[in-house]
Amino acid sequence: MFELEKNIRPNIRAMQPYSSARDEFQGDARVMLDANENSLGSAGPEVFNRYPDPQQRAVKAELATLKGLDPAQIFLGNGSDEAIDLLVRLTCTPGQDSILILPPTYGMYEVAANLNDVRLERIPLTADFQLSAEAVAQIVASAAKLVFLCSPNNPTGNLLHAQALEQVLRGFRGLVVVDEAYADFAAAPSWTTRLAEFPNLVVLQTFSKAWGLAGLRLGMAFASPAVISFLNKIKPPYNVSEATQRHALAALHDAPHFEQMRQQLLAGRIWLQAHLPAVRIVEHIFPSDANFLLVRFRSDATAVYAYLLSQGIVVRNRTTQPGCAGCLRLTVGTAAENEQLVAALREYSV
Ligand SMILES: *Cc1c(COP(=O)(O)O)cnc(C)c1O
Repeated sequence: MFELEKNIRPNIRAMQPYSSARDEFQGDARVMLDANENSLGSAGPEVFNRYPDPQQRAVKAELATLKGLDPAQIFLGNGSDEAIDLLVRLTCTPGQDSILILPPTYGMYEVAANLNDVRLERIPLTADFQLSAEAVAQIVASAAKLVFLCSPNNPTGNLLHAQALEQVLRGFRGLVVVDEAYADFAAAPSWTTRLAEFPNLVVLQTFSKAWGLAGLRLGMAFASPAVISFLNKIKPPYNVSEATQRHALAALHDAPHFEQMRQQLLAGRIWLQAHLPAVRIVEHIFPSDANFLLVRFRSDATAVYAYLLSQGIVVRNRTTQPGCAGCLRLTVGTAAENEQLVAALREYSV
């Protein structure tokens, strides 16, 4: 049985959040002298002299419509990496509590645990990067405060089977964080459509991948209003800048461009999946619901990595990740970049 209060650190339950000037007064006054801002204007070409909306209402209103959710179910952060860190800090008392991860997976979960002095328990995925029945049982039996499940998973590219995930959601006593950074490339509905069923579900998404805004730093967490208000309680008051909020609104109003890029990247993935098998050194291409392919090589993958680098092409070497021996992770690029990558791999000798 999941009980939210039992998964929130006692000091966080008890504390008073910072109340910013913009929390205490919203709206338009003629004279704004409450926040020690500079009423004269801004240095530089654009005007940013006022603090941004700490609750990012305009962006959340657009997102709520896009995702079919209530704004109270949305948290915005300085990248999803901020949400990952805040979720660990919200639930785990340093030196005492633990979180679960399922390797091979995204590296930031482990970093957030280490940074916060939180114990990390690793439950490996199967050889085809799924949750075994045993793994589900282990998670359900665990006293950890949080489990991170990445679907589509990075660096493997596959979706986790919905049935196993559902068993975790029903049985685990802590928060279940489903990281959907790559959801826009996946042929499956987002877990946001199941939020009403599972009070322990937190879904992470980001503007860094399909939206093409990695440099902006904007991540999203979707959960029950109760979980979201705890995240808002502990976030830095102005964690999403005015520049980011304005730009995100413009991007959300540019949905056709997003969709066109998404389709082009999906076509690029299909093109790579069609052309890589004919490359002699390619042993296996793992199925992908993301904008990258995990590829196992017949020859020494680290040597292939170094060779690609010498050709001016950088990919991600994942050979040391559990279950990923001999593997490189290749991001889908432009049509020209994909062609250069395949051409370079074809010309690899030894
Ligand atoms: C890229 C990625 C993110 C995105 O992080 P941001 O901080 O939003 O850029 C989150 N999770 C996974 C698994 C990723 O691969």
